[in-house]
Amino acid sequence: MLTPQQRREKILQYLQEQETLSIQELARRLAVSLMTVHRDLDALAAEGRLEKFRGGVRRLSPSSGEDRCALCGKRLAQRTLFLINLPDHQVKRACCAHCGLLLLARLEGWALTMDFLHEHILSAAQAVYLVESELVTCCAPSVLSFGSPQEAEKFRTGFGGRLCSMQEAIDFLQQVTHGHPGR
Ligand SMILES: [Zn+2]
Ligand SMILES: [Zn+2]
Repeated sequence: MLTPQQRREKILQYLQEQETLSIQELARRLAVSLMTVHRDLDALAAEGRLEKFRGGVRRLSPSSGEDRCALCGKRLAQRTLFLINLPDHQVKRACCAHCGLLLLARLEGWALTMDFLHEHILSAAQAVYLVESELVTCCAPSVLSFGSPQEAEKFRTGFGGRLCSMQEAIDFLQQVTHGHPGR
């Protein structure tokens, strides 16, 4: 049995040899379920290592024009990346949770966000959000996401703002921006 990390490295290796691969083929080669492959691919897509399409996956060249926020057009940064998986397997990327949550409010999909401290991918619905802290990474008001409520609280002590759930953060952003992206 391979660990998730080992599987993901293998997937990237395969993609070095071949530009595209089907999900079926990956599941066969790794001897895991399609669900597991999807989960690995979502994680790698979140890191910008590859791109999913219906039934398969494609190597991502470093400058494919896919490196801009789907809402405001700013350049994507790994540390604040926010992703929305749409039902048709397209992925929308946003520069930060500010844009990501506003986009999510308009789209049907499930989202992933990055832990601001560790750069781990998190389910956006389960993350803790710090809004209106003094640390503005790209879009104001600043929205940062954390996996751990304790770490988020520690961060808040230093940078101010307040902690909230995903839905509270969306409600707040919609109020302050009236649905338009910040700058
Ligand atoms: Zn943006
Ligand atoms: Zn942003």
